[in-house]
Amino acid sequence: MNLKELYQEIILDHGQNPHNLKKIENFNKEAKGYNPLCGDKVHIYLNLDDNKNIKDISFEGSGCAISMASASIMTDLLKNKKEKEVQEVVKDFLEMIKEKPELSTKVLLEDEKMKLMCLSGVKKYPMRVKCATLSWHTLTSAMDGKQEEINTEKFD
Ligand code: ZN
Repeated sequence: MNLKELYQEIILDHGQNPHNLKKIENFNKEAKGYNPLCGDKVHIYLNLDDNKNIKDISFEGSGCAISMASASIMTDLLKNKKEKEVQEVVKDFLEMIKEKPELSTKVLLEDEKMKLMCLSGVKKYPMRVKCATLSWHTLTSAMDGKQEEINTEKFD
């Protein structure tokens, strides 16, 4: 199995059996996102402590394998991360998915970065990039406490 096949395998696995796909009971921040180009929908739930560190994170939604895998992997990796760490990982991921060849953050372990790199194949397809970034833009909105629904049409 080559790297590309391994990446696709991991995406399919997360897409079919997403992790953290539920509504946590004690959330105190939330945001919804919609990708009209593909029909992907995601609703992020966060339990933040007083310092905006993520104590718990989950999501509900429906959509293509890329959007569900991205939300599944994102929620796995950001649980128990501090606000600054979350911001760093989000920025790093968004840069990588559009143009950067590799992730540069030191917040994540190598095998954690590998899971995000599984999504790097969408880089060549701008419409698919929106599927991969939907949950990340929605997370940022939830962290900021904004009420408006995220629409990927508004992002590059
Ligand atoms: Zn999609």
